[in-house]
Amino acid sequence: MAVYRVRSLLAPCILVRAVWEIDLDALWENGVRGLILDLDNTLVNWNDSHVCPAVRGWVETAHEKGMRTCLVSNSAGGRRVREVGKDLGLSVVTRAWKPLPIAFQRAMTVMGTDTGSTCAIGDQVFTDMLGANWLGMKTVLVAPLSPRESPHTRLIRLIEAPLRRRWALSQERGAAGADGRR
Ligand SMILES: [Mg+2]
Repeated sequence: MAVYRVRSLLAPCILVRAVWEIDLDALWENGVRGLILDLDNTLVNWNDSHVCPAVRGWVETAHEKGMRTCLVSNSAGGRRVREVGKDLGLSVVTRAWKPLPIAFQRAMTVMGTDTGSTCAIGDQVFTDMLGANWLGMKTVLVAPLSPRESPHTRLIRLIEAPLRRRWALSQERGAAGADGRR
């Protein structure tokens, strides 16, 4: 995960199974100082607020390294987003309207970072990856934490599935980016 080049608006730089697999040392060495974090099915199960120990430990490590963190969620349930944000010590942007760039720009303003020093992490290609790639950020796509999702998201997953398979294959083959091109 040493080279980060966004090759399309959908492809992540890196594909992982869960946030706790993300190598924070590697991100730091590549200049990342701020993390934009999705909530549902990235940090917690969909529509839930319970944080598992693995996620909590990973976020704590990020903070110990000196990284800024901001939860950016499209969820209309602002109270739940703020609860998780407070629990984990994250700044919070609610009703974000991802993939619109304004969502990510608001988070960078909060963290005091720019596109070159920010990495967006999420479980959805057409919101989390698209918006962040549009701005030229580093991006990490995680697998959804649980199969429970909204009906709308389940439909989107049908489109995502072949893309994820392709990126996973490219990554296994040792390509620099999950999109398989250098
Ligand atoms: Mg999500």
